[in-house]
Amino acid sequence: MIIRVVIAGPRGKMGQEAVHTVMNDDNMELVAVLDHKDLAVNLAQYEQFPEQYDVPVYTELHTLFDAVKADVFVDLTTPLAGYEHTKTALFAGVRPVIGTTGFTDGQLEELTNLAKSSEIGCIIAPNFAIGAVLMMKFAQMAANYFPDIEIIEMHHDRKLDAPSGTAVKTAQLMAENRLSHKQGHPEEHENIPGARGADFEGMRIHSVRLPGLVAHQQVLFGGTGELLTVRHDSFDRKSFMTGVKLSIEKVMDLKELVYGLENIL
Ligand code: NAP
Repeated sequence: MIIRVVIAGPRGKMGQEAVHTVMNDDNMELVAVLDHKDLAVNLAQYEQFPEQYDVPVYTELHTLFDAVKADVFVDLTTPLAGYEHTKTALFAGVRPVIGTTGFTDGQLEELTNLAKSSEIGCIIAPNFAIGAVLMMKFAQMAANYFPDIEIIEMHHDRKLDAPSGTAVKTAQLMAENRLSHKQGHPEEHENIPGARGADFEGMRIHSVRLPGLVAHQQVLFGGTGELLTVRHDSFDRKSFMTGVKLSIEKVMDLKELVYGLENIL
């Protein structure tokens, strides 16, 4: 069976990779893309894509779903747009695969309930790289033994949300194995606000944004006389495409929302 896929954000860094991935997969067909800017009616007209990429472009998602029959909707846009698109896709009966990060807990809860009540599969994955998923798993394991933890996540300077979805997901996983407690000196004081980073149940998260970076994270575990570092680097956005492909395939068999690639591996 050929899976009919729609991609939102095709001009973006992730979107471009996803377009190539679906176009080059024999078991998938890119039936349409969503671009919020009215730049062209066909993907072949974009300078980023070869002229054989004959795929219609829509600027409005309802219109797209009315015109094109789709199985899976992939979103690689911005937190606000991605959230609205996910709801629209669920209402249209099209299974969302969401790589866009930065959804709030309330939004995730609402989408989880919506997917469950409509029995439509949905995958939201803050990180599609297999190595990053393993990094999160190893960090969760280490949190059993090292309760004092700091996360340093580093991304390119075009990223909108901070901390990264991966950092938040890692902290949530570690919180399952670690009792919440304040870290550092009980009387520590920030001379410059933010110096100690964001506080997630006592764990500290530091977000670095610099040109040249792609997506990198290290989790530091401090013990008596020792330091354990668990680290993952995505040097190229191709690292995310194995997870995108896998999610498009797996979401076809789901009837509810799954958050995190580790839950479908
Ligand atoms: P990007 O290069 O900035 O691409 C975002 C694209 O979305 C742009 O083409 C942008 O168009 C478009 N866009 C903005 N608002 C839109 C709207 N309202 N409707 C439709 N499209 C809209 O960003 P990126 O690096 O590709 O990242 C995209 C998302 O994926 C981010 O949330 C990022 O955090 C996430 N991400 C996830 C993973 C993962 O493994 N899950 C990995 C990397 C990144 P304009 O150019 O016109 O603004």
